[in-house]
Amino acid sequence: MAQITDNAIILRTRPFSDTSIIAVVLTRSHGKVSVLAKGARRIKGGAGASLEPFTRAELVYYDKPGRSLQTLAKSAIVDSTPALSTSLGATAAANLAAECVDRLVEEGEPHSDVYAALAASLGQLEAGREPVATAAGFVVRLLTCLGYSPSLAECAECGGAVEGTAVLDPRRGGVLCPQCDVGAGGVTLSGGSLTLLRRLAMAGPPAGLKLAPGQKRELMAVAEVLIEGQLDRPLRSANFARQVLLGS
Ligand SMILES: [Zn+2]
Repeated sequence: MAQITDNAIILRTRPFSDTSIIAVVLTRSHGKVSVLAKGARRIKGGAGASLEPFTRAELVYYDKPGRSLQTLAKSAIVDSTPALSTSLGATAAANLAAECVDRLVEEGEPHSDVYAALAASLGQLEAGREPVATAAGFVVRLLTCLGYSPSLAECAECGGAVEGTAVLDPRRGGVLCPQCDVGAGGVTLSGGSLTLLRRLAMAGPPAGLKLAPGQKRELMAVAEVLIEGQLDRPLRSANFARQVLLGS
């Protein structure tokens, strides 16, 4: 049994007993891990506070190979996200990002690139950046880290230029030019939304970015179809995100 110390982002928690919780976390160097935090529900401001969703914490845990649940020894907050709990929009986007990681990253596979992308996006939400744009950009970066990068720069089928309104079909690998989009599913993006998505794939939304309602709907739909193209069941957090972020 090894004792491991690593930074981690808390993805979700659930009660395990009257006093203990299970936290599913993404560690920086050891991938996704489930840890049992004994007594975490009893101590206010102690281990419990460092295990709030979206918090970045330094964890010390005992790792038993072959076990799906590891035992937490110690945890301390590295970076908390107080603004995320006061802004419903930021919370909805953070929930979506955390669920995407939880559903797509397998336990025991180190993904320091996913860790960095998630930490950056949570930081952007904490700083008040536009939540739909942050979530959509995160989804593209997550898929890229995991080897499922959608083609956004050129037509996924013929490699031709794609300008203006275009269809993005995850089953066919990304955006399609007008010659190739016959029979395509997925989402229709305006030229403005596609240009923005290409930028968001590289970096978070700029400060002060505001989206028109139509752009929010397009980017939210893109985030959902891209992720759900990789999943066998829909995202649980998508309904809440749509209600809060789109008002629908
Ligand atoms: Zn084409």
